[in-house]
Amino acid sequence: MPKQIPVPNELNKPFWDACNQQKLVVQRCANCNTLHYPPKQKCDKCSSAAPLGWKEVKGSGHILEYFVIRDSRIRRLQADQPLNLAVVTLDEDPGLNFLSNLPGIPAGEVPVGAAVEVLFEPVEGSDQLIPEWRVPK
Ligand SMILES: [Zn+2]
Repeated sequence: MPKQIPVPNELNKPFWDACNQQKLVVQRCANCNTLHYPPKQKCDKCSSAAPLGWKEVKGSGHILEYFVIRDSRIRRLQADQPLNLAVVTLDEDPGLNFLSNLPGIPAGEVPVGAAVEVLFEPVEGSDQLIPEWRVPK
């Protein structure tokens, strides 16, 4: 499936570099240990000015909810419509959410609540790997 090609910036480059090594990382505040995703400049839980570090997480989660995209204006997605867009909560911190098209799951047939695991997929036209989530067989 053609995906959006991520454009890493200074803030999220460590995340995308880790994806290319097939590792899922999130930010961690050295002061209060709060995990953060998506990447942010500083911790919004405590007022620490220290830059956030990165922590590898296991890459297991659960499907919280989903919707089906039928009429996207995003040209790279149009050929695959309808497609799932699911919200996955990370088991290590269910406050952290990732979005997934859930490859292998037919549109509209998402098993909400199911356990999922991360995998890293190539993006057409780029050498960047991107995280996706799948229901283990
Ligand atoms: Zn903090």
